[in-house]
Amino acid sequence: MFFTLVLASGNEGKAREFRAILEPLGFKIVLQKTLGIDSPEENGKSFLENAIIKARYASEKSGMWALADDSGLAVDALNGAPGIYSARYAGEHGDDRANNTKLLEELKNVPEGKRTARYYCALCLVRHADDPVPLTVLSSWEGAIGLKELGSGGFGYDPLFLVTGRNCTAAQLPPQIKNLISHRARALQALTYKLEHNLS
Ligand code: IMP
Repeated sequence: MFFTLVLASGNEGKAREFRAILEPLGFKIVLQKTLGIDSPEENGKSFLENAIIKARYASEKSGMWALADDSGLAVDALNGAPGIYSARYAGEHGDDRANNTKLLEELKNVPEGKRTARYYCALCLVRHADDPVPLTVLSSWEGAIGLKELGSGGFGYDPLFLVTGRNCTAAQLPPQIKNLISHRARALQALTYKLEHNLS
């Protein structure tokens, strides 16, 4: 039996990963844009605050349970940038190519070994817009920023993200592996555990 959730995101890369992980668990994912819902202003200062803002907004507009993801990349040599601004690092929202070019430029004088980074994924699930107990989780995925783009899978910064402990970028991982070990995969595992065990 399927339980339907609105996904508070317009990012196709994320939506693909959410579907691959959640549908085998019995959840049906509807994208907010297919319901004609726009995006709210993301004016939180953290991934978690933005995830809560997005989930409440999608639930208010749809009248349904809503799941939001706010995620991004934090590079140590850049004091955590691009962080919550990952999607619009180079200016325009969601321009992956420009974002990757800018990241390589910002790190051009940073040697290998000092290019450590991690992805973060904050998730928020609300049962209604004013849910006083939103389910939230924050997970991360360790890596480093490569010297050039490698691979064609994934999305966003994946061609530059060298996965710790594996000799490849996130864009070179088969999708089924990324969907088991990524920041988003781990966050979803934690969220579904909380949901199934009635935890907050
Ligand atoms: P959001 O839609 O505001 O949460 O922005 C997320 C941004 O973070 C994306 O547009 C990507 O630039 C980056 N990002 C988050 N997760 C991933 C990932 O799994 N791979 C590559 N980039 C990611």
